[in-house]
This record gives sequence, C-alpha cells and structure tokens, in this order.
Amino acid sequence: MTATRVLAGARVVTPGGVLVDGWVETAAGRITDVGRGGPPAGTDLVDLGGAWLLPGFVDLHVHGGGGFDATASPADMAAAVAFHRAHGTTRTLISLVTAPVDSLVQQLGWVADLVDAGPGPAGHVVGAHLEGPFLSHARCGAQNPVHLLTPDRAVLARLAAAGRGTLRSVTIAPELPGALDLIPDVLAAGAVAAIGHTDAVYADAWAAIEAGATLATHLFNGMRPLHHREPGVIAAALGCGLACEVINDGVHVHPAITALVARTSQNLVLVTDAIDAAGVGDGEFVLGGQDVRVRNGEARLAATGSLAGSTLTMDDAVRRAVLECGLSIEVASAAASGNPARVLGIDDQCGAISAGRAAEFAVLDDDLRVVQVIAGGVACEVQDATTTT
Ligand SMILES: [Zn+2]
Repeated sequence: MTATRVLAGARVVTPGGVLVDGWVETAAGRITDVGRGGPPAGTDLVDLGGAWLLPGFVDLHVHGGGGFDATASPADMAAAVAFHRAHGTTRTLISLVTAPVDSLVQQLGWVADLVDAGPGPAGHVVGAHLEGPFLSHARCGAQNPVHLLTPDRAVLARLAAAGRGTLRSVTIAPELPGALDLIPDVLAAGAVAAIGHTDAVYADAWAAIEAGATLATHLFNGMRPLHHREPGVIAAALGCGLACEVINDGVHVHPAITALVARTSQNLVLVTDAIDAAGVGDGEFVLGGQDVRVRNGEARLAATGSLAGSTLTMDDAVRRAVLECGLSIEVASAAASGNPARVLGIDDQCGAISAGRAAEFAVLDDDLRVVQVIAGGVACEVQDATTTT
C-alpha cells in the first residue's frame, strides 16, 4: 500500500476558493483528496500552522536566476531552474533569447536533456520557449537585432528537431512576411504560438489568433501601446481572452495594468522573464551577448536603456498581485499556476490543488513569502531564497 501524507492546518487555495483549516492528502506524488476541518485519521500528518498552501508555480518565461544564465551551459541552466524552484516554481519553461541558430540548436539540446532527465529535487523543466529569432526589429527590446530572422519554416524545423519534442512555445511577430504560415508549423511541432516583440496592428494580431496563436508574450512590453484608433495586440489579446503574460514586477507594468488584464482577459499569466541577476542584486550582467546593468532591481541594456528581462521571482509576482494589484489570492494563484498550465496543455497534471494533480505546492506565510516548496514528495530548502526586488 502506498504511504499517504496529509498537509493540514493550511489555508488551501483551490480553484473553488480558499479552504480555511484545509488539508490535502497526497500519495505517490499525487493529490488524492482535499478537504477542510479534521484531516483523515491514521495518516502521516504535517501541520502547516495556518500557512497559505498554493499549487506550485508554472513559469512560462525564464532566462536565468541566482546568478546563472540558462544559456551559458547545461549546469547553469539547471542551477537557474533550482533557484526558481526555491521561490515556488515547480514547472519551468526555459526561455532562449534571440541568438545565432547554431547557438539555439545547442541550447535546445540542453533543454531536451533536462526534460529527459525528468523532475528532481532541483526542479522540473517542461521544455523550451524560443523568444526569437522571428521578431520585429522595431520592437526587439533586449533581443539582439543582429540575430533576428524573417520567419523561415526550414529554420523552425531545425530548431524543433533540436528540441526533440521539448520545444513548447515560440514567440513570433505576426506582421513579418511568412509569420502566419509559420504558426501551423509551430503548432504541429507541439508548441504554443505566442505573439510578442511585435509591431503588429490589431488586424495582424487577429490574423495570428485565427492562425492559432494562443499566448501574448509579456503583454504591453515589446509591442505597440494601446491606442483608441489602432488598438494593436493589446486590445486583440484582451478582447478574445488570449492568455496574457505579464511581468508583474512594478517596473514593466503599473499594478493597475496587471489588475486590468486579470479582469478583462480572465486569463492573466504571471511570468518572471527573469535573467541571471534575479536574486543577486545590482551589478553588471550579460543577456544574449549584450551588456545589462541592474540598478534597484531594474535590468536594462547598457547601450540603449531598454528593459532587459527582470529580476522577478514568481513568489514576488504573486505577492505583488495580491498586495499591490488588489487581486484575490485565488485569481493570483490561477495566474501563477492554473492559467500557465492550461497554456501548455498540462493542466490535467498540475497547476491546481485538486485530486489527481501532482503534489506540487508553494507554502506561503501571512506576508505571502514562500517558506516551503514541496514537489515529488520532497521539501526544498528556501531559507536563502529571500527576494531582492
Ligand atoms: Zn524574455
């Protein structure tokens, strides 16, 4: 018989609401039952002392963290994942910035190796997110313009093959020639087509959505601003309920914008877009071969001043969503776990505290700071995981 364990005495955040004095029964890495009041008798009981219990976070957009640039080496990639796991992220997509195709091929191979290695105490890599190279020069932000390419089906095929089935998301500027023809190829490769780093007008955005795009990469950043006569990607995304990534660090968007996206799209996806500087503090870093300067937690290209990813962690994104943006903890939790899991089509496996899902949890204190991360029946150390932003 499989040993069961019960996490009890928690404020359990479920899709149906918060269970005060709730408990969650787990066995063999899965949630087997959820309830409130007296926990089942005769089980291995862990009292969480009234802490918040949320599903582990699913981050669709991670470049690095803890001083580790995921594209530097396989070991750095794994270490960046481990850093974010200590902040509550139990499933990670590794984001690869625009780079020469040969470099991307190599990095996609590293991601595939990590996925093949399977989930472990240091994290669970779901796959790769390509942030480029099929992006707009006009809206490239911190993507290195030297390596941007016009959409090219042969290049995409090479990249997808390099990922060995682990390429899960591709950001594309839909107004580029050939972009709409590329979207079916992205979907056929098993990846999500995301709209981002784009100068698209409203009609371009809708054409991409009709072609199968289901995600907006960091909505508001790297695209035309919302304008009442040319509403662009933002209005298209909000209007059709597209999954909308938001970097909720108080720098990339105002807290009111995060709240607006949550209310209008009902499909807010909190991401970090974290670079290696996350958890390190101010200093000089490199992203995609370009110098980055971090001051007061704000990462910008040294050359242009363009925002260059963030130093955010998912626990911080959730805390800000509740305390600064005024979202309920249920909505914030869905934006950090359930919604991104649905984007990847893994919401039947994770992203919610309900029977049958993976036993992956972030335990938060009264101030919504992560105190424990649990996945695969293993509790992860978080004592060094205080955020810097
Ligand atoms: Zn990014």
